[in-house]
Amino acid sequence: MVRELTHFIGGRHTPGTSGAYGDVYDPNTGAVQARVPLANRAETEAAVADAAEAQREWGEWNPQRRARVLLRFLRLVEGEKDSLARLLSSEHGKTVPDALGDIQRGLEVVEFAAGIPHLLKGDFSDNAGTGIDVHSLRRPIGVTAGITPFNFPAMIPLWKAAPAIACGNSFVLKPSERDPSVPLRLAELFLEAGLPPGVLNVVNGGKETVDTLLEDPRVQALGFVGSTPVAARIYATAAAHGKRAQCFGGAKNHLIVMPDADLDQAVDALIGAGYGSAGERCMAISVAVPVGEDTADALVARLKERIGTLRIGRSDDPDADFGPLVGRDAVDRVTGYVDLGVEEGAELVVDGRGFTLAGHENGFFAGASLFDRVTPDMRIHQEEIFGPVLSVVRAADYEHALRLPSEHAFGNGVAIFTRDGDTARDFTRRVDTGMIGVNVPIPVPVAYHTFGGWKRSGFGDLGQHGPDAIRFYTRTKTVTSRWPSGVKEGASFTIPTMG
Ligand code: NAD
Repeated sequence: MVRELTHFIGGRHTPGTSGAYGDVYDPNTGAVQARVPLANRAETEAAVADAAEAQREWGEWNPQRRARVLLRFLRLVEGEKDSLARLLSSEHGKTVPDALGDIQRGLEVVEFAAGIPHLLKGDFSDNAGTGIDVHSLRRPIGVTAGITPFNFPAMIPLWKAAPAIACGNSFVLKPSERDPSVPLRLAELFLEAGLPPGVLNVVNGGKETVDTLLEDPRVQALGFVGSTPVAARIYATAAAHGKRAQCFGGAKNHLIVMPDADLDQAVDALIGAGYGSAGERCMAISVAVPVGEDTADALVARLKERIGTLRIGRSDDPDADFGPLVGRDAVDRVTGYVDLGVEEGAELVVDGRGFTLAGHENGFFAGASLFDRVTPDMRIHQEEIFGPVLSVVRAADYEHALRLPSEHAFGNGVAIFTRDGDTARDFTRRVDTGMIGVNVPIPVPVAYHTFGGWKRSGFGDLGQHGPDAIRFYTRTKTVTSRWPSGVKEGASFTIPTMG
């Protein structure tokens, strides 16, 4: 039975009218489980018009009232977290506990955004000149939009929608067409929590939908998360249309293992961060950098042994370490990169190609692969594989290890495992990467700090959640005021100074 999904516009499920559909798979079996309508220009413009209308009133609600909607939403999601996680897992392929984490990390940003009355407070300078006071306001910007990837279908829509609407904007979400059911359900729950219809619209679609959002003058700001080529194009196009944009792209995250590191901890970290969610995380560790030959030999031996014990299973198997990839194309891409690594001369220590799960031969499964003796000139080091493939690049010394992530085109996350505080401090100051973990493999910042990669991993000057999100979703208005008792007589032809 193939379900037919809808858009969610003006607080109602709206069937697609374009006639174009995308397939939503069950990655465990490879079967199509739903069809998602792909919005054309007219449908997308209708969603934007509706959002523009709804924003006028929503932007006038006081921030505490807006925060109450978020607080009610938190309670509603809490009440159905388990069924949401199962739904998410059934379309994405990540395990149910990992899907719960996807939802939870999204909710943490909703909790942060519920502090909006405080977060929106402006600055005030008393008596900035004689009789003159200056204050600043953070005003909503109007209609905002978000285009999100398949790999965190709850977390990333919430990272964008919650701060955007808390600031008094309306928000048009274009989720990934691969797993749109959870974003649709979240929009329903926002409505149930008291969000006025139209403040959060979900338009499903592909390139035509996105192009319409980019070109529509009513959309003031646009956030994107996905692959780097699309992020770069969307950033440039948004800027050309006068929009504020923040676009986050792909990654190649290194984990440096210093000779003094606790090797057991480093191995645990690499197995979890390399193969968790089948490597389909922008903060996954895909490169291990042991420093010194002894560290490298010991690390590779232990990784090989641990990979042999990994359990790959259905996404709803409670004992699975990771489930299937999102699509057949993803399996083909991962297999292609393992073939390429062999051609490039890397040493394939564990070969995950051709893995099948008994009884699920058409599922989108890929086994775990491990490469040793990868070098920076190889494409398997330069490009994002986005699958369960870990590469070991052996570093001669600390300076060599530091150069690998610093000179890489991507700059999302990086980690160092060491017991030495001096080394850790030097590394965190000098490495050319946006988010850094010290003995922490996946340093996704907590909700009230800002998330953002550097270089080809992030385009735009502000990151996601934390203080940057409030700046991104508001415009500053600065007011200079003086009352009649402070006004001097006569016209002045020189620029006022505070002398
Ligand atoms: P993707 O680029 O294929 O798709 C992302 C979104 O863009 C989807 O909504 C998709 O429908 C849309 N899209 C795809 N092609 C488009 C085009 N040509 N024009 C306009 N829109 C288009 O990415 P994905 O496969 O869904 O997600 C995986 C990627 O996302 C990986 O590269 C991963 O590293 C990255 N990612 C980055 C972060 C981060 O914070 N830096 C977080 C999560 C995922």
